[in-house]
Amino acid sequence: MSTRVRYAPSPTGTLHVGGAHTVLFNLLFARRTGGRFILRFEDTDRTRSSEGSEHAICDALRWLGLLWDEGVGAGGAYGPYRQTERLPLYQAAAARLLAAGGAYECFCTPEELESRREEARQAGRPPKYDGRCRDLSAAQRSALRAQGRTAALRLRLPPPEKLVVHDLIYGDVEFDTAELDDFVIVKSDGLPAYNFGVVVDDTAMAITHVIRGDEHLSNTPKQILLYRALGYDLPIFAHVPMILGPDRHKLSKRHGATSVDEFRDRGFVPEALVNYLALLGWSSPDGREILTFEEMARTFDLERVSKSAAVYDEDKMTWMNAQYLRRLPPLDLCERAASWLDAAGVPWRQADPTWLTAVVEAVRERVRTLTELPDAVRYFFAPPGSLDPEGVRRHMRDGTPALLAAAADRLESLPAFSAETAEAAYRALAEERAVKPAEIIHPTRLVLTGRTVGPSLFLVIALLGRDETCRRLRAIGLPAA
Ligand code: GLU
Repeated sequence: MSTRVRYAPSPTGTLHVGGAHTVLFNLLFARRTGGRFILRFEDTDRTRSSEGSEHAICDALRWLGLLWDEGVGAGGAYGPYRQTERLPLYQAAAARLLAAGGAYECFCTPEELESRREEARQAGRPPKYDGRCRDLSAAQRSALRAQGRTAALRLRLPPPEKLVVHDLIYGDVEFDTAELDDFVIVKSDGLPAYNFGVVVDDTAMAITHVIRGDEHLSNTPKQILLYRALGYDLPIFAHVPMILGPDRHKLSKRHGATSVDEFRDRGFVPEALVNYLALLGWSSPDGREILTFEEMARTFDLERVSKSAAVYDEDKMTWMNAQYLRRLPPLDLCERAASWLDAAGVPWRQADPTWLTAVVEAVRERVRTLTELPDAVRYFFAPPGSLDPEGVRRHMRDGTPALLAAAADRLESLPAFSAETAEAAYRALAEERAVKPAEIIHPTRLVLTGRTVGPSLFLVIALLGRDETCRRLRAIGLPAA
């Protein structure tokens, strides 16, 4: 039987990196096992769910390249893939449970339930449902209905037991069902409660493996009781540890970017984010860290997923991104950074592609996110607006402008202009003037680029070209340091 897995978000916001992590593990598992990955929306919270959020989640998944085989927007034989379009299925399952006595109608109002919970808390008892409507007679039910009350449906809990959840990641986890109460499965407005909807859907969609965040491990005993009551086969469960911030609390806004969109807006590329997320809780058997999706999918194994929570590390994420930027074809890198380059006014679109490629190759070792590209290439397009003050203090002497003008003379008289001939000219000049080459090289870099560090100076000179280099060398007019 081929595997079927799913991601079932509630469309109440954007895609969080934790969600992307869950999707990735589902998708890697599906690809590894030759199965299918389904996207389904749990949109029964009508006040918080929105179409805009569905679009945002789908767009973020597409941006990441994490595509679903079946589900909203992709179709499939098990649809519809939105819970609000599947109400008859829940109603049928609920009616069956009710008829078999596995569930019962509860007429308690939210206010009554709350005041009883409060009483229980005051008395130091766990605030569980007290079973008041468990055994109402038909006459009692009609009387309550006649008062205008509407019924929710509750599961009639079987006698307490030690229920063991077999989890591929957590191992066997034991729960005492005595701690549960007769929980609501269909709310009084007719919508399924989460635990009920998910069990009906996972069964109807023939889901074989439920791979989701470990915040749902504690819901699993309830779901297992529902599978049993409905006479359904259990899927295999795998709860993936959540991602923590550096302070070991659940990754949240406090730690910086948490939505996938924010990572995009901060100049991370999707391949790097996907690769980084894969390593949160999983590792490749051969220990390699830079892996394509296909490479990961070849070796992915839920049994290699750690059950201890992974900590998000911004430095590692940034390092990973830099690795990917380095491997991109330079013009592709520019395309991806287009919005930042344009916003910074860098006229890269008019540049000669061969020259632009060389410029990007010269600087990209220093570029960690796409947002850093404009600043890294800026001085190739226009003279620096200002010079690094510390560089001015260290490298500019009284004789420096004359020295730079002499360097410009040498460059102008070169029969052939290249990085090599420029370097030879500099060395010859230094020797003749009896100064260290650094005394010409450092100020040259400073006036050409505005900075004290960067790619090989003679490469910069070659890329700027003879005319532009000489213009900048002569135009220093030494701004006040
Ligand atoms: N809607 C639930 C969530 O977003 C789905 C949980 C599940 O996968 O069972 O957390």
